Amino acid sequence: MNLILMGLPGAGKGTQAEKIIEKYQIPHISTGDMFRSAIKEGTELGKQAKSFMDQGALVPDEVTIGIVRERLGKSDCQNGFLLDGFPRTIAQAEALEELLTELNAPIDYVLHVDVPQDKLLDRLTGRRICPECGATYHVIYNPPKVADTCDNDGARLIQREDDRRETVAKRIEVNVEQTQPLLDFYQTKGYLVTVNGDQDISDVFEAIDQKLQTL
Ligand code: AMP
Repeated sequence: MNLILMGLPGAGKGTQAEKIIEKYQIPHISTGDMFRSAIKEGTELGKQAKSFMDQGALVPDEVTIGIVRERLGKSDCQNGFLLDGFPRTIAQAEALEELLTELNAPIDYVLHVDVPQDKLLDRLTGRRICPECGATYHVIYNPPKVADTCDNDGARLIQREDDRRETVAKRIEVNVEQTQPLLDFYQTKGYLVTVNGDQDISDVFEAIDQKLQTL
């Protein structure tokens, strides 16, 4: 099952990704997570990515395509994968097509979680994540059992630097400009499945799952 998950920041991609990988046992490949862990570990990749991420801008294509190429070549991707946050540009989408042809692993679906833009700012600024396990919560829509505390491991939840209000508006703007050409690209290829993301988390997952069961 070779999947791409798309949607503007705050559309609920991360939450749906967790559900998909749990049910279908495929690796979750999030370029944003890969960059964040590289920054945390202080690697060369982290240093390259940090200045772009801090400004809410995209990391250059050659850097991003390189890390995805390396990741998709690992053995745990042989039965499928869920790409999240990649591709973000047409150049990345084209590079991915080439790479997947080489790997003989064509895309099954591009799942687009669709949420009206006016709802996104509110969703993003309320998002909290666990610095230990990466689980995501929302102060109103998906709160942890105990305020500010991860349900999985009890770590104190944090707000991502790029979920702060100043950065969020820029991220949405960058993403809106970038997303439409990609949706058109995948629509033309016949991979695109649009799911209404403006409903309960479980209902969004049910809509996705119904589609996945046809594979
Ligand atoms: P995300 O967690 O997907 O929202 O990504 C956080 C940040 O990582 C983005 O704002 C970009 O700076 C960078 N990033 C993640 N994925 C990509 C990508 N496919 N291309 C370029 N930059 C990316």
